[in-house]
Parts: sequence; structure tokens; C-alpha cells
Amino acid sequence: MRLFSRKQDIFLYNTKSREKELFKPLGKRVKMYSCGPTVYNYAHLGNLRSYVFADTLKRTLLYGGYKVDHVINITDVGHLVSDGDTGEDKVEREARQKKKSAKEITDFYTKAFFLDLEKLNIKTDDVTFPRATEYIKEQINLIRKLEEKGYTYKTSDGIYFDTSKFPKYGVLGGSTGESRIEENTEKKNPEDFALWKFSKENRLQEWDSPWGIGFPGWHIECSAMSMSLLGESIDIHTGGVDHITVHHNNETAQSECSTGKPFVNIWMHNEFLNTEGGKMAKSKENFLRLSYISPPLAFRYFLLQAHYRSQLDFSESVIEASETALSRLRNIISEYKDNGKVNKGYKGEFTKAISDDLNTPKALSLIWDLIKDETVEDEDKKATILDFDKVLGLRLDKVEKVEVPEEVLKLVKEREKAREESNWQEADRIRDEVAKVKFKIKDTDDGSVIEKL
Ligand code: AMP
Ligand code: ZN
Repeated sequence: MRLFSRKQDIFLYNTKSREKELFKPLGKRVKMYSCGPTVYNYAHLGNLRSYVFADTLKRTLLYGGYKVDHVINITDVGHLVSDGDTGEDKVEREARQKKKSAKEITDFYTKAFFLDLEKLNIKTDDVTFPRATEYIKEQINLIRKLEEKGYTYKTSDGIYFDTSKFPKYGVLGGSTGESRIEENTEKKNPEDFALWKFSKENRLQEWDSPWGIGFPGWHIECSAMSMSLLGESIDIHTGGVDHITVHHNNETAQSECSTGKPFVNIWMHNEFLNTEGGKMAKSKENFLRLSYISPPLAFRYFLLQAHYRSQLDFSESVIEASETALSRLRNIISEYKDNGKVNKGYKGEFTKAISDDLNTPKALSLIWDLIKDETVEDEDKKATILDFDKVLGLRLDKVEKVEVPEEVLKLVKEREKAREESNWQEADRIRDEVAKVKFKIKDTDDGSVIEKL
């Protein structure tokens, strides 16, 4: 007799169909690909939103009983300053400016990226991180396949994909060629894109190919790595919404033309993280790194409070509110005893929320409902919250009971009194004194919260 483990029904919004769909895996293991960072600079908070989103999605699938193979690529060549195949290669430009080799630059920022993932508790034990420069042969083979099938043409600066030969081009939506600024007049159609670019000047990274010395286009790397590591058709591909129009429409075109099979079953995209200057971007001054936030998991908490498909505005005050909420949550859990049982009712509600296209705001609010619920024992609350944390990833299992010394408690009381009397100078003085013995006081609507520094 064969036993089948029951998997959770999960509904996911597919950018391609513009609908929530019941997720049906193609095979025994879910194949998932996430467009990774271009490692010419640190990841900013907006970039990190896309990896927290991908991680939450994967954790939801694992929680639902699925097994997942996940790939996040490292773009270390070929991503040009403009999406229209013109301008400098971002990595080359940075290397020249810093007078370093391309590898020194990409190794440095790849390491920094991994540290950020670790700080955000993004699961990496089951992720493969291929670098584009390690898949040059596969990219050349893919371009040759497209050439043999008649999808390519040559211009003075490279080998291009002829989008007019793929009638479904642009299936993911977004404005296509009409709105693109035409900088390359040799292109047959505005949407056509480079598969291989010839080296014009002396490049730091270049390879020999059937078409001459050069380097691969940015889009071909994702198709080549995805198909090499996960197979010709995969279940889910993720990225930020800015990738829909060009990068993902191009990935779809070249992959499907080379294999004749659907490339991706479900396309999923996270919305932008914005700051006062609009979308957070590496090229703008509104660039904030994870090191700005302490503890880093407060950023994860902040992201989970919004649905991944809504735009999110970042500011100092909203992140402070998340820091406070997370610290309150940790303090509450630290008071609960172990060895409780997961509450079935709450687990059912939680599963329903996350299976509805990752409704994390609802999932988080259930934790606070549970904490307030007097009909549930404290140890059962803890067991239930730790079960939810398999998806939320807030490291709530690492919470330790903080013993606050008498002396600090006394100071906190004195400070509360000073605040009641609007004696802000005295309140600040006490805060500094408390910091000297490595404790931090946070002011919340429910009074002072004390944290270990
Ligand atoms: P990049 O390193 O520029 O190739 O981008 C890495 C990932 O971050 C991609 O999935 C982008 O779509 C995503 N991304 C870039 N800017 C933002 C932003 N402000 N908010 C959310 N996601 C973003
Ligand atoms: Zn990609």
C-alpha cells in the first residue's frame, strides 16, 4: 500500500494569468527560481524585500508539505546600466571606478549579500546560488540553439533575439517596445534584445564564442541557469515588479523558443519598497542598507505587515514601530513556558491566511489575537506561535528570558515619573544611564519596554 502525504491547497497570484490560482506542482518537488542580485553594490532594503518575499513563499510551501528546490542566481556579468542593451556593464563600471578586478568586486558584494540573508533569517540551506560567469558555456549553447532555430540575427554590436518570431512576446504584460527609448537603430523591433554582446573596448570579463569575443546578455543568464539547474519547465519564478516588462518577458521568449515548452508555470512579483524619493534604487540617493535597522529582523517584521503585492513606504517612524512590536512579541514569548500543544483552531486560521496568496498581515495579526486570548494556555500559545514562525521566520525560537536587574527596573520607574512630569532632560539622562549597563528603554503606548543591548 502506498501512502500519500496530504498537501495543503495553496492559492498564488500568477502575473501571467492575472489571477489567483490553485497551485499544482509539475512534479514531486517544487522547482523555484528567484532573480538574484547584481553584485556591483550592496543590496538595498528594496532588493531585500524580494528575497524576504521569495523566502516566505518557500516557507509557505514547505509548511504545506511540499519539497522545494530553490535557485537564486548571482548576476556578476552582463547587467547593463540601461534595460535597452546599452550603456556600461554595472560590474565593469564599478571595478574600474574602484580600481579593482571584476572578481574582487563581485566576491565582496556576494559575501555582503549572504550576510544580509543570514541576518534576515532567509533559509539558504536548500538554495543553490549559481554565478552567471560560471554558466557561460550553457548560455552559449542556449544562444546556439536559438540561432539554429532561426530566432537570432547579428548587428554590429552583438547577436539579438528577434521578438517578432515569437507571437506570444510580452505575455506577462507591462508596456513593451513602444515606450522603450530607441538607442540601437540596428534592431529590427524595439523589443528585440541582446543575447551576446561583442567586446568593443578592453573588457575585464569577456569570453570566446562562436560569434567572437564578448559577453552574454543579462536575460540569457537566468534562462540558462534556470534550465540547467531546475529543468526546462519550472513551477515558480519570482522577482520584483520592475522585472516584468523587459527581463521576464525576454526570459520567457528565449526559453520557450529554445525548448518549445512552457518555461514557467506561475510568475510571482513583489511590489516596490518606496522611500521619500520614490522607488528605492541603487542609482538613487534614497538607498538604505540593512545595517540601518537594528535588529535586522524588525525589517522582516515590517515587510510581513504588508501584502507582498502592495507598495510599501519606508520611513524611520514605521520601522521604529516594527522594532517595538517585535521586541514586545519577544518579551511576551520569553515569559511563556515550554512543552505546550499547537492550538488547532489558530493553526487552521493561520494556514488559511498564508495559503491565500501569502496573506502575511492577517497571519501576523493572528499572533496578537492569540496572545490576548484568555481561553488558551500560555504554553500552548508559545507552541502555536513557534509553529507559525516556521513561515514567518522571525527567529522567535531563539528568544531568551531577559533578567532585568533591580537597579535597571528602579531607573525605568524613575524615568517614567520624569516623563509624566515632562522632565525630558531627566528622562534622557536616565536612558543614557541605563544604556551604560547595556539595556535599552523603548517607549510604547503600553509603557516602557526594556531590551538587552
Ligand atoms: P538587482 O540587484 O537590481 O538585479 O535587483 C534584485 C531584485 O530586487 C530584483 O528582483 C528587483 O526586481 C528587486 N527590486 C529592485 N528595487 C526594488 C524596490 N525598490 N522594491 C522592491 N524590490 C526591488
Ligand atoms: Zn533574472
